[in-house]
Amino acid sequence: MSSTTFQAVNPTTGESLPGQFTDASLSEINQTVENAAMAFEAYRHTGPAARAEFLERIAAEIEALGDELLERCHQETGLPMGRLQGERGRTANQLRLFAKVVREGSWVDARIDPAQPDRQPLPRADIRHMQIALGPVVVFGASNFPLAFSTAGGDTAAALAAGCPVVVKGHPAHPGTHSLVAGAILKAIEATGMPEGTFGSVQGRAIEVGKALVMHPQIKAVGFTGSFRGGTAIFEYANSRPEPIPVFAEMGSTNPVFILPGALKERGAAIADGLAASLNLGVGQFCTNPGLSFLPDEPGKDAFLQTLEERIGETGAGTMLTAGIKAAYDKGIERLAGTDSVRNLAGGAAAKGDFQAQTAVFRTTTEVFLAEESLEEEVFGPSGIVVESGSREQLLASARRLKGHLTATVHGTEADLIEYRELFDILEKKVGRIIVNGFPTGVEVCHSMVHGGPYPATTATQSTSVGTTAIRRFVRPVCYQDLPQALLPDALKDNNPLGIWRLVDGQFTQAAL
Ligand code: NAP
Repeated sequence: MSSTTFQAVNPTTGESLPGQFTDASLSEINQTVENAAMAFEAYRHTGPAARAEFLERIAAEIEALGDELLERCHQETGLPMGRLQGERGRTANQLRLFAKVVREGSWVDARIDPAQPDRQPLPRADIRHMQIALGPVVVFGASNFPLAFSTAGGDTAAALAAGCPVVVKGHPAHPGTHSLVAGAILKAIEATGMPEGTFGSVQGRAIEVGKALVMHPQIKAVGFTGSFRGGTAIFEYANSRPEPIPVFAEMGSTNPVFILPGALKERGAAIADGLAASLNLGVGQFCTNPGLSFLPDEPGKDAFLQTLEERIGETGAGTMLTAGIKAAYDKGIERLAGTDSVRNLAGGAAAKGDFQAQTAVFRTTTEVFLAEESLEEEVFGPSGIVVESGSREQLLASARRLKGHLTATVHGTEADLIEYRELFDILEKKVGRIIVNGFPTGVEVCHSMVHGGPYPATTATQSTSVGTTAIRRFVRPVCYQDLPQALLPDALKDNNPLGIWRLVDGQFTQAAL
């Protein structure tokens, strides 16, 4: 692997930013992973209090970076300062929430089936179960969330909470932001006495850097947010290893929105307003962007289409994160515009230069949607397609044809929702989150969130990359049969020294045995 340097680019001005960053060499990558593997032996045994304190300290160190972090991040991404302030808050809160999860302790899913020596015809052994950390994890920072899905973002927080050291490959679009946050994590390691190597940072613009990390035999799982192409390439590397490992790749989706007749009649224009706002949010650079809307041929349709056209027409050109993302967006728009029987519905202000995007909304019919699979593919940016459905059956047929997505949204009156109960039954099998009378952008970080879904939205349909159950991606169950008390982990000892909830003989309890 040849070593090359690169600079960040300010997407607002197109100019290179100060600071030279270097593609990590193979020996640097190997050393970083070896350090993580060594750290794992000690880090996995850190108690809940120490690990929680570490996570909280990372949050505090990120906050202590103050405006320097926000300014550099703003320069590297073009994202507004207000958005970045919010994202920093989300990042810190996410770390603090995982600290709470670790302190509370029941995430380890401790289960105890005490021995039954007198059972007939055969005695039962003492059988105990819990989740343990997988080992060093590689996290790929995401371009569109430079803080909350990057260096100290959700994947990193979940893996560290689980007891896994983390090596982050910073996204090459924001290397300065990555360096600052990596520095904050290293400070937290020192301040809380965590093993050196618990966190490692790797930069690189070459695909080989990421590949070498995934292929390293000491890496035991991967967290990724980005393109379908990148995610599936990484998934293939992971499966081609002598020891295949899980890849939790979140690759985006078009997040179908279904508008039902009663809601269309009652508030078609308001739904169009909300759709335009959601579609344009962050220049459409969200994996939950509503890219596909299904509209019935019912009263209210004209008001909906007219309002959507007006709102989109009022939209200015927005600055995208990178020239590559803008070029991919333009190509996607060209593809849609060139598809037979797909027509322009509305367009925003014209875009200038290598970074700006013009909002574009298209319209077509269910027949065309059902015949043309590519209409379901994500065009990352402020674009959407309105699919006009002539009947309830057409709408349901479209839903049945969908592949895996992160979300599905349904707008309906109470009567609509009951009448279209079948739609929910279909969508449940297609997506990770179903939203009623809202919009998919905005993903709450909480205990019940699911940000995932069947392939091709992700490579790991049983998981979520947002919310506290994201911790489950980085653990595996181990069963201990007839181990003496002294050898059992604290979570499984008779006297329950951690005071956690456990399933003892099928009953949840915090009591000692
Ligand atoms: P990306 O191309 O998927 O890259 C994300 C990260 O993965 C980068 O660090 C990249 O490294 C690495 N990577 C990509 N392909 C790889 C490969 N074959 N082997 C090893 N590493 C690889 O995403 P992006 O740069 O952020 O944006 C490109 C496109 O991704 C967008 O146009 C959009 O379509 C999609 N995207 C989707 C989401 C979402 O949430 N759905 C978010 C962001 C982007 P290098 O840069 O060094 O290749």
